[in-house]
Amino acid sequence: MTQDEGSGAVQHRETSAPVIAGIDIGGTKISAVLTDESGAVLAKGVVPAPAAEGGPAMADAAADLVLRLCGALDAPLAGAGVGAAGVIDQERGVVVAASATFTDWSGFPLADELEARLGAPVWVENDVNAFLLGELRWGAARGESDVLGIMLGTGVGGAIALDGAVHHGVHGAAGEIGHTPGFSDLVCTCGQTGHLETLASGTSITRRYRAATGSDASAPEIADRARAGETAALAVFTDAARATALAASVASSLLDLGMVVIGGGVREAWDLLEPGILDTLRTDAPVSGFPLRIVPAEISADAVARGAAALASARLADPVPATV
Ligand SMILES: [Zn+2]
Repeated sequence: MTQDEGSGAVQHRETSAPVIAGIDIGGTKISAVLTDESGAVLAKGVVPAPAAEGGPAMADAAADLVLRLCGALDAPLAGAGVGAAGVIDQERGVVVAASATFTDWSGFPLADELEARLGAPVWVENDVNAFLLGELRWGAARGESDVLGIMLGTGVGGAIALDGAVHHGVHGAAGEIGHTPGFSDLVCTCGQTGHLETLASGTSITRRYRAATGSDASAPEIADRARAGETAALAVFTDAARATALAASVASSLLDLGMVVIGGGVREAWDLLEPGILDTLRTDAPVSGFPLRIVPAEISADAVARGAAALASARLADPVPATV
């Protein structure tokens, strides 16, 4: 058994049967899990992400982590799935577009580069899509078919599953709910105005709190102040919750979704978000009359890596599926 970090369930294992890797590549860290065919986690680890050093350095760091975990288990690698930040051409395994956090990441042939380093097939998916796959398989959305996933992190990402499969859309960018307009008068990180992200991201929570109070408190500190009853701190979380619930209600009205799963760092303040979400669902519920469930992610920290492993497992079993 190998476990570098965290307290996720790690199974004991006796044989050296091939394992499947799931890799979560973000702007600050790269984490990976090794699973068996059933998706049980056998090993996990995390390393800093050299996002400023370019695509090859990121691929080196991810491959080194996976090979080190495989070495500790003395197990051969059958294949790997990756959840990576940015817009992904998942058929070719190429990063199509990425934020300025990543140097030389747009256009990087991530699947080919990792296959060369790992000596095993690699499939790449957008990280929020992988998060939703993880929650569908093992988390809050188990047994659901039509689900919206929203990650409230540094930015706001989204992913849609229909009939149990991730819906990619014409350009591979379906579900990008963070950059939909009409929520505020604030300028978004993308340069446009009023997007959901201006109210619901962790960055927006600290920025709006600073604008209201002059304090440079971190998001966890602001959450503690809100729990202590400070009005300004409570207000930034209530505004984030209301905007998130409105966006969820719009998406659910369009697609008749059964559930919306909320992940990302801001989800850790679920106790502060839930009242605003429930209030908004009372006033702005889908007119279908069917109740919309908005719930916190259950395997939040590992969901991207475990979802990516599930993708690889499905592709190994059926290399050219109609859906994943
Ligand atoms: Zn935006």
